Amino acid sequence: MEIITKIKKLNCGEVLENVDVKKYTTYKAGGHAWGLVMPYTIRDLQALLKLLNEERVKYKIIGKGSNLIFSDKTYEGILISLSGLDNLIIRDNTIVVGAGYSLMKLALKTARLGLSGLEFATGIPASIGGAVYMNAGAYKSDMGYVVKSIRVLTPELEVKTMYNHELDFHYRSSFLQKHPGYICLEATIILKRGNVEEITELINKRKSRRLETQPLEYPSAGSVFRNPEGNFAGALIEEIGYKGKHIGDAYVSEKHANFIINKGNASGDDIKKLILEIRDQVKKEKNIELKIEQEFVE
Ligand SMILES: Cc1cc2nc3c(=O)[nH]c(=O)nc-3n(C[C@H](O)[C@H](O)[C@H](O)COP(=O)(O)OP(=O)(O)OC[C@H]3O[C@@H](n4cnc5c(N)ncnc54)[C@H](O)[C@@H]3O)c2cc1C
Repeated sequence: MEIITKIKKLNCGEVLENVDVKKYTTYKAGGHAWGLVMPYTIRDLQALLKLLNEERVKYKIIGKGSNLIFSDKTYEGILISLSGLDNLIIRDNTIVVGAGYSLMKLALKTARLGLSGLEFATGIPASIGGAVYMNAGAYKSDMGYVVKSIRVLTPELEVKTMYNHELDFHYRSSFLQKHPGYICLEATIILKRGNVEEITELINKRKSRRLETQPLEYPSAGSVFRNPEGNFAGALIEEIGYKGKHIGDAYVSEKHANFIINKGNASGDDIKKLILEIRDQVKKEKNIELKIEQEFVE
């Protein structure tokens, strides 16, 4: 494919052709994409984006693919993984971390150093960039509580620092989500000094709770719907009798109704159909409009 040849000529990172997106998403579903590029540096990313813009080829930044539902049709564009941007500096309670670094790994590392603030994140299989984009969170905390600033690439391909107050963090929402041309390159996170044993105990308690309440033995992308104000999406789905309901191998989990799990060969389209059916059924029976937390990629 011509675009892949042109990308390879840039020598801007690892380039894979005709990739199976199943390998890059936690749902393990979806079709193929023209290509996947893993830039080595920010300069490489800039060069790649310049080329893609000139060639009018669409692209999608992917982190750990833990919030994405790809269609089964070919994604006619380039996936860009920032897994190469995985720098990490920890100085006292300040952490500077690349967008491609694993949030879970960082949360466990900082816990061992007696730094408190990322306990909520040990069960969230995100990259730092994806976590900032989604304002990932749990247990009444989220990235907005700990991120001091981020370095972004603007749509004009300039590197800029944006501070917490500019990032518009709300429940599973951020400036980045509302401005898709911006790419998170790095985050500066501030944690508090804490006690290693207390932090570890809290993490272990939450881990057991997740194992008890979430179907982590199957591929999924976590919660499908945002919790509506004063209610729980899982409870509403259970009340309309959808636990265990399925389309193909895409099942509403019996353990947690706000999870859809892939019991084998669920297609991206099966998952999407089931999600839309649940949303419509909850609207019909409960007159509540559930908002989808996960993202469909076509
Ligand atoms: C078992 C399980 C449990 C989960 N539990 C939780 C939970 O408790 N709380 C929670 O909030 N979420 C949870 N999630 C959902 C998911 O982990 C989060 O939404 C996470 O933030 C997604 O990060 P990611 O790196 O995988 O991003 P992806 O899913 O790869 O991408 C998500 C979006 O972010 C964009 N993006 C990714 N990186 C960047 C970047 N560097 N710059 C700009 N945009 C970018 C993508 O383009 C895409 O639009 C869970 C998922 C699973 C599978």
